[in-house]
Amino acid sequence: MAKLVIVSNRLPVAVSVRGGSVEIREAVGGLATAIKSFLAATESGKTLGFDELVWVGWSGVKAEQETEEVRAKLREMGLLTVPLTGEEFQLFYEGFCNSTLWPLFHSFTVYTVFEAKFWESYLQVNHKYAEAVSAVARPGDFVWVHDYHLMLVPGMLREQAPELAVGFFLHIPFPPAEVYQLMPPPWRTALLDGLLGADLVGFHIHEYVNNFLRSVSKFLGYRTEAGMVYAGRRKIRVGAFPISIDFDFFHNSSEVPEVERQIEELRQRLRGLKIVFSIDRLDYTKGVINRIHAWERFLKERPGWRGRATFILVVVPSRTGVPQYEAMKREIEREVGRINGELGEVDWVPIVYISRYIPTTTLLALYNIADVALITPLKDGMNLVAKEYVASRRDCRGVLILSETAGAAHELVQALVVNPNDESGIVNAIERALSMDPEEQCRRIKSMQERIRQHNVVKWGVDFIHALALAYNDNLMSA
Ligand code: UDP
Repeated sequence: MAKLVIVSNRLPVAVSVRGGSVEIREAVGGLATAIKSFLAATESGKTLGFDELVWVGWSGVKAEQETEEVRAKLREMGLLTVPLTGEEFQLFYEGFCNSTLWPLFHSFTVYTVFEAKFWESYLQVNHKYAEAVSAVARPGDFVWVHDYHLMLVPGMLREQAPELAVGFFLHIPFPPAEVYQLMPPPWRTALLDGLLGADLVGFHIHEYVNNFLRSVSKFLGYRTEAGMVYAGRRKIRVGAFPISIDFDFFHNSSEVPEVERQIEELRQRLRGLKIVFSIDRLDYTKGVINRIHAWERFLKERPGWRGRATFILVVVPSRTGVPQYEAMKREIEREVGRINGELGEVDWVPIVYISRYIPTTTLLALYNIADVALITPLKDGMNLVAKEYVASRRDCRGVLILSETAGAAHELVQALVVNPNDESGIVNAIERALSMDPEEQCRRIKSMQERIRQHNVVKWGVDFIHALALAYNDNLMSA
């Protein structure tokens, strides 16, 4: 029997150590939620043939606070911690992960910082994770490594423990080879070699698969074909596995009593106003400023909608330590204030701006009452909010406006698809969405719901593990 080892930067918990007491709560966040839904549906991997589950990651507390008591409590829950020091948090996490890889992989080249000390820390921290995995994994176990924080781990595992089945999934885009080329040569080849330590490398969509394959042949010179890299005697499978959501959870949300209550309350308070809604983490990739300007132009060019429609803009604080994020927050606040001051009335505001994390029940209520979801990232690996909005609409109402540059646009083709920089295109889409007749809304929502129902988060995880088993067996036979 084999073990399933999940490896991610953060463990799916929030640990707080106050005085002598340790509190461990479940953490939220896209990656953790997706993996947990998959694990719940497969009984922690048992229905896939695994007899044990271990999750390796950082607990979120500083190394010096990570006492034996914290480690023991987490161990009981099948969670194995990798301690990170304050310096590593700065250089590895805020540095190489969020100031180098995040902007470059989203093609924000001017925001990308290349610092040798960030890279050194990335190497060192990836080693720590690989060591932690090697300590628990035995030959034949399956190791599933997640995301851009840990791209070197598969290669390190291949050297330390070659008999493991290793899969890697990237939760963000992989950029075109010309963008990837901006990375200093020793780093860019090391990262590709790192990924190719896996038997299977997964991305959200084919576009990222193709970008990756081109970089592999351009920078490493390996032969590639559709879905495969040939590296010496090893074959590495590369495929698209679009991440998704727990469809039933969102689809049944309007029947949860607390959500129902909030829907009623919101409807009364909004007095028949049409609602345009968006929610994002504060991030330059999400196109929040472009969206605010498109909304302003809509209200100026179509003044008949003033007083009849409001934009509820929720921006959740994130990565407060990285400088661009603070500057962007100030810009959003300035622009929202300016527009509300210029166009607002005593009894109507153009933009209702909320800048904090909102509880799940409130989010579900907002999904259920929003006439339009305006989701216009400049670049987004997938965008789960788009899928959640569509899935929530049991009433078969609502219109999704979605950027063509979000991974989700490849699946949600019945959305009103826009380019995030095409202000007049977005203005037209908002008008069309607010005026769309209920039959057309329902037709579009229904076919997108069918897609999400079938391609839900459990399918994402199960498909990945099955493909990993095939890839691993293939390599075993040719070893
Ligand atoms: N989310 C949440 N509460 C909030 C804001 C966001 O639970 O106040 C969740 C949201 O439901 C979604 C995830 O955070 O599941 C955001 O995922 P997405 O892929 O849209 O963007 P990311 O933040 O991963 O770039």
